Amino acid sequence: MASFRINTERMLADLDMLRSIGAVKTGVVRPAYSEADRLARIWLAQRMEQAGLEVSIDAIGNVFGLPPGNEKCILIGSHSDTQPEGGWLDGAYGVIVGLEIARASLEQGGTPVACVSFQDEEGRFSTLPGSRVWTGMMSLEEADEYCDSTGLRLGQARLERAGMPAPRSVSTDRFSAFLEIHIEQGPVLDTTGERIGVVENIVGIRTEKMSFLGEQNHAGTTPMHLRRDAFQGLNHFVSTVNGRLAEVATPETVWTVGHVDLHPNANSIVPGRADFTIQWRDADDARLDRMTEIIYATARETADSLHLGWQHFGCDLIAPTQSNATLVEAMAKAAEQLAPGLWRRMPSGALHDAANVSSVLPMAMLFVPSKGGISHDFAEDTDRDDLALGAEVLCEVVARLG
Ligand SMILES: [Zn+2]
Repeated sequence: MASFRINTERMLADLDMLRSIGAVKTGVVRPAYSEADRLARIWLAQRMEQAGLEVSIDAIGNVFGLPPGNEKCILIGSHSDTQPEGGWLDGAYGVIVGLEIARASLEQGGTPVACVSFQDEEGRFSTLPGSRVWTGMMSLEEADEYCDSTGLRLGQARLERAGMPAPRSVSTDRFSAFLEIHIEQGPVLDTTGERIGVVENIVGIRTEKMSFLGEQNHAGTTPMHLRRDAFQGLNHFVSTVNGRLAEVATPETVWTVGHVDLHPNANSIVPGRADFTIQWRDADDARLDRMTEIIYATARETADSLHLGWQHFGCDLIAPTQSNATLVEAMAKAAEQLAPGLWRRMPSGALHDAANVSSVLPMAMLFVPSKGGISHDFAEDTDRDDLALGAEVLCEVVARLG
């Protein structure tokens, strides 16, 4: 197989073009199935076709560009939908790098490479439904029932395909491996001055909705020692659990109380109810289990000591995912070759389509730095030199695997 080189200027020009579809200020607003998202998918399909790739857009809206023939090939991609206020690189970068590597390989007779943009990675309707349906983790019928925040069903939204070809599915059997390159969306590489991250695993995520139940009463007439204040319960729980989780945490372990709803949330009423979510992430299932025990025990103790009720509503689980060891080694060698001493092995604290794809294909991911560690914001950015280097490292990985 001939080795081949990518054209990083062409890659960056395509990235700028994709950025212009749904551009707002320095960012992009291109949520899944929006008008901008549909136009971006049509543009991507055209770029794939111009490159000599065969385009398939499946029923949920994943866009594939396949090399001619039926030979097994490497699949490279990410997602082109964005958050309601998104950056220009989150997902788009990995899609365009996939396009450039597939295109350059086809032009120069290299290893066959296919590219993909998965649908709704950013969760307008559900958690990564595009890659979940493609990998068979969820049926299309199940996905169709999810609604966005306005009540629109995914099953309705996906039918708007004006300008797209008729739906055609692509079997996972066509591919030998999946590679995804993405901005880090965190501060590690930017802080250390390193330029490439080789992702060894994607963290597991557990999210639980809980409530403390007290007694709603008058905030002027109820003596402090007789109160059963649900907010004081939440306050006690959070400060206690912070200390206990810190004892089992690694530097990568994170936990967040991200949503709080006080009832009735009024100046002069002792809160009778505090509903909240707590989410914890780590790459090790055993540590996630230990954290679950600590969280439950602390909540129970809090409720007992403050004479409150405690309810929890079942844990939403996303298991940690390991990258494929052979692919990780190929990435480490390519990173050392092109960015000697300026790369590291690291976990991904964010969820990616690659986690789902790992259920059917060997998977690995690369990161490039995010300036200031910022993403999901119009300010999201990465140096163009880093974008070019990341693409070249991934191309070198393909050469090594080919
Ligand atoms: Zn992303």
